[in-house]
Amino acid sequence: MSSQALCQPPEASPPDDAAAKAAPADHRVTPMMAQYVEIKAANPDCLLFYRMGDFYELFFEDAETASRALGIVLTKRGKHQGQDIPMCGVPIDRADDYLQRLIGLGHRVAVCEQMEDPAEAKKRGAKSVVRRDVVRLVTPGTITEERLLDPGRPNFFLAIARRRLSETAWRYGLAAVDISTGHFALSETDAAGLPAEIARFEPREILLPDSIAEDADLAAFWRETRASLTPLSRDGLDPASAERRLKEYFGVATLDAFGAFDRAAIAAAGSALFYIEKTQIGSRPVLHPPTSNQTGAALAIDAATRANLELTRTLSGERAGSLLATIDCTVTPGGARLLAERLAGPLTQTGLIRDRHDAVAYLVENASLRDAARRNLKRAPDLARALSRLGLGRGGPRDLACVRDALFAARDLGALLARSALPTELAAAAATLGSLRTEIADTLQAALADEMPLLKRDGGFIRAGYDATLDELRELQQDSRRFIAALQARYASETGCRTLRVKHNHMIGYYVEVPQNIGEDLLKEPWKETFVHRQTMAGAMRFSTVELGELESKIASASDRAMRIELGHFDSMAAGLVLQSAEISAAAEAMAVVDVCAALSELAVDRDWVRPAIDDSLSFSIKAGRHPVVEAALKRDGTAFIANDSELSGDDAGHILLITGPNMGGKSTYLRQNALMVVLAQMGAFVPARSARIGIVDRLFSRVGAADDLARGRSTFMVEMVETAAILNQATARSLVILDEIGRGTATFDGLSIAWASIEHLHETNRCRALFATHFHELTALADRLDRIENVTLKVTEWNNEVVFLHEVVPGAADRSYGLQVGRLAGLPAIVVERARAILSELERTDRESPKQALLDDLPLFAAPVRAPPSPPQSDTLRIALQEIDPDQMTPREALEALYRLKATAG
Ligand code: ATP
Repeated sequence: MSSQALCQPPEASPPDDAAAKAAPADHRVTPMMAQYVEIKAANPDCLLFYRMGDFYELFFEDAETASRALGIVLTKRGKHQGQDIPMCGVPIDRADDYLQRLIGLGHRVAVCEQMEDPAEAKKRGAKSVVRRDVVRLVTPGTITEERLLDPGRPNFFLAIARRRLSETAWRYGLAAVDISTGHFALSETDAAGLPAEIARFEPREILLPDSIAEDADLAAFWRETRASLTPLSRDGLDPASAERRLKEYFGVATLDAFGAFDRAAIAAAGSALFYIEKTQIGSRPVLHPPTSNQTGAALAIDAATRANLELTRTLSGERAGSLLATIDCTVTPGGARLLAERLAGPLTQTGLIRDRHDAVAYLVENASLRDAARRNLKRAPDLARALSRLGLGRGGPRDLACVRDALFAARDLGALLARSALPTELAAAAATLGSLRTEIADTLQAALADEMPLLKRDGGFIRAGYDATLDELRELQQDSRRFIAALQARYASETGCRTLRVKHNHMIGYYVEVPQNIGEDLLKEPWKETFVHRQTMAGAMRFSTVELGELESKIASASDRAMRIELGHFDSMAAGLVLQSAEISAAAEAMAVVDVCAALSELAVDRDWVRPAIDDSLSFSIKAGRHPVVEAALKRDGTAFIANDSELSGDDAGHILLITGPNMGGKSTYLRQNALMVVLAQMGAFVPARSARIGIVDRLFSRVGAADDLARGRSTFMVEMVETAAILNQATARSLVILDEIGRGTATFDGLSIAWASIEHLHETNRCRALFATHFHELTALADRLDRIENVTLKVTEWNNEVVFLHEVVPGAADRSYGLQVGRLAGLPAIVVERARAILSELERTDRESPKQALLDDLPLFAAPVRAPPSPPQSDTLRIALQEIDPDQMTPREALEALYRLKATAG
C-alpha cells in the first residue's frame, strides 16, 4: 500500500504550503521560478513535471526524489536563496517510461505543459515567461497510456461513500471507474461485505474519505490493501450534488434509466466524477452510463480467499500460475479484461449463469464458427482503450488506425454471427455488432496512410489523394526540393565550382557551401551581389542568396499549412469517433463478450471440460473433478492428474467432507479444486470434471496454508484464527467453505480443540457445504456423531519401504500421516529421521495406553496432561554424545576426559 497526500474536495481551501517550504518565495526569485513555485504549491502531493522545450524538468525535492527513483542524473540550475536548485529532467518522448516507473512506485505526477509558443511570450517582453499550466494529474488509477497499462487487466479506481442506517449499521456505495476503457460500475453493500466487494474490482487506487479511513473496524483492511489510497477529506459528495453531477455528465434529466441506486452509491459516483475532473483537468473521458450490481448478484469472495485460491495472481504476486493465466485463451485485450472481470466476480443468478453456459456450449458445438470468430478477433486491436485516449485528447494517429481496424473486424464479426437461433448472450452481441455503423471506418480507411507515425506532430498520416490542398502543399515541398537541386546545379555551373552544395541547418536555414578558395572569390565582384557571406568554417565558406531565402519561406509555410491541415483532419476524425462513442464502446464490449465465450469454448474442447448443471438447490456433486492449474503443470511434466469425486449435496444443509491423509497426498489440491469448480461454474465457464451439479453458492471461503504477516504484527497463528473467525461468523447454508489444517500453528491440544469446535460449528450453525483437511486423526471420530460429516482419505501405498502417493480420494480415515517418510524424502538428516521414528513409536505406545476415548465420550475434552517427550533410548544418547566429539580440536587430556564421560553414559 502506498499512501498519498490529501486530495481536496472541490470547495476546500487551496492546498498547503508544501511547495513554499521547498522553495520559499523571495524577491530574488526569477520569474520562471516564481511560476514554478506557484504551480507546485497548487499540487503539493504530486511530483511536478514542468515542461521546458523538449524536456519535463523537476526541481528541488521533486528532483531529488525522481533522480533517486529513476536513476537519472541530478544537476543544478541557478540558485535560490543562495542555494543551488537541484534539477533533473526527462525527455518528453520518453516520458511514458519514466511515468510508468514513478506510478509503479506509488507516486503521483502533475504534468505541466507550455500553453503558448515561446515566441508569443517573447512578444510580451524579454523577461516574460511562457504561460504554463497543469493539464493532467497522473495517478495509478487514472492512467490511459498504452505502455503504462496491462492490456489484459482493467485499471479501476474506486470511490467509496456511505450513509448511516442506524446507530451501528452503514450502507456503503462503491463507484468503480476504468477511464482507460470508460467502464463505470456502481454497487452497494453492508459493512461485512465491503472487503469482498472491493476485492472484486482489484482497484489500483481507492479514494478514501477520512471518516471511512478512520473507522477502526476497517483499519486492518486499509493496511492490507495493495491499492494506492488517496484520502478525501469528506464523505464523497452529498447525494443531491452528486446526482446533479451525474446527470450533467451523461446529459440526462433523470438517473432512472440507469437503474435504481442507493444514495450511498450515487454519492460515490459523484466523488468519482469529481476525481476525474480533478485529475483530467478539462478533458472528459468517454464513460459508459453506470451499470449497477445489486447486493448478492456476485459470489462474495473475500480478499484472503482470493489470494489463497490464487485466482488472478499467485501468492507470490505473479500472473503466471494463477487460475486466470491457466484459463485465458482470449485473443483480444478487451476479451482478456472481460475474462479477468468475470473471474473476479462470478454470478449468483442461475438464469444469467445459464445464459453464459449456453453461449459457451453453442460455440463448443459449432467449431467452425468458433474458429472463424477467433480468427476474426485476432486482427482486432484494443478498441476501447484507443477510443478512450482519443476522447481524452491524448490519442495519436495509431489510435485512429486501431479504431479503423477494430471497426472493420467488428463489422465482419457481426456478419459472421448473423444467424438465427443464437443463444441469448451471443444474440445480444450479434445484434450490437450487426447494427454498428461503420461509415466512419470507411472515412478513416480513405484518409489514413498505410504507415502511421507515433505522434500527430510528426505528420504524414493522411493518405495522398485524400485532400487536394494537402497534396498541393506536399507537392510544393517536393518541388522546392527539386528546385533546390536545380539551383545548386546552376550556381555550380555559373561559379565553375563543381563541389558547391546547397545545405540546410537550423541556424541559418538554406545556404551555399563552397571551399575556402572559391569562397574568397565569391566575396568579390561580380558574385558579391548574389552571394551574401554568412559563415567561415575551417576550409569552407557559407553564403545565402535571395532565391534560397524565398524558397525557404515557401517551404516553411507549405509545411506549416500541411501540418495544420493534417491536424484538422485528425481532430475532426477523433471528434466523429467521440460522437459515436457510445455505439463504438458497445461494439467493443460485444467483441469482448464473443471473445470470452469463444475462448471458454476453446478451453472446454481443448482440455475436456464439461458444462456444469447449475440450480438453486444445495447440491455439490462432482464426478472426476480435476485441479485446472495443477493438472496443467503436471501435463507439462508428462504426469497424469488423478481425478476425484466430491459429494457435499444436502437438502436443507450441506455435507462436510473430513479429509485425512498423508502429507503430499493431495489434500490441499483436492480442497482447492472444489472451490475453483464453483468459481468457474458461476463465472460462466465449463469445469474440469466428467460431470458437475452445483447449487448456487453465495459466498466462498477458504483458509488454506499459513502465512506470517509480521509487517502487520500478526503471527501465523493469528492470521489463521482471524480468517477462521471470519468464516465461522459469516458462512451461510448457501456458502462453500474449504479449511485446510486449522489449528496447526499452536500447541497440539489447543489446535485440536479449535479444529473440533470449528467443525461442530460449521455443521450445527453454519450448515454449509464444506471440505476440511486435517492431520488431527482424532477428528475422524466426529463422523460417528454428526450425521452430515463423512470421512475420506487420500490413498497411499508403501513399496520397498518407500511411500507411494496415489492421490486418489477414497472413503475412510487415514491411519497415519507418513510425515517421517516425507521428511526423509525432503532430505532431513538420517539421524534426525531415526530419532523421530523412535519418539513417534514411544508416543504411539503411550497414546494406545490412554486412548482418545475421552473425546468420544464428551468428557472434559483434553483433561490429560501434555506428555513430555520420552527420554532418548540409551544407544541414541551414546551416539549423540559421540557425534558431539571433535577429536581434531581436543588436547590429549580432553580426549581422555571425554572417553571417561562416554564410559559413564554407557554405564
Ligand atoms: P500436505 O499435507 O503436506 O500439505 P497435501 O496432502 O495437502 O500435503 P498437496 O499439496 O495437495 O498435498 O499435493 C502435493 C503434490 O501432489 C502436488 O503438488 C501435486 O504435484 C501432487 N498431486 C496432488 N493431487 C494430485 C492428483 N489428484 N493427481 C496427481 N498429482 C497430484
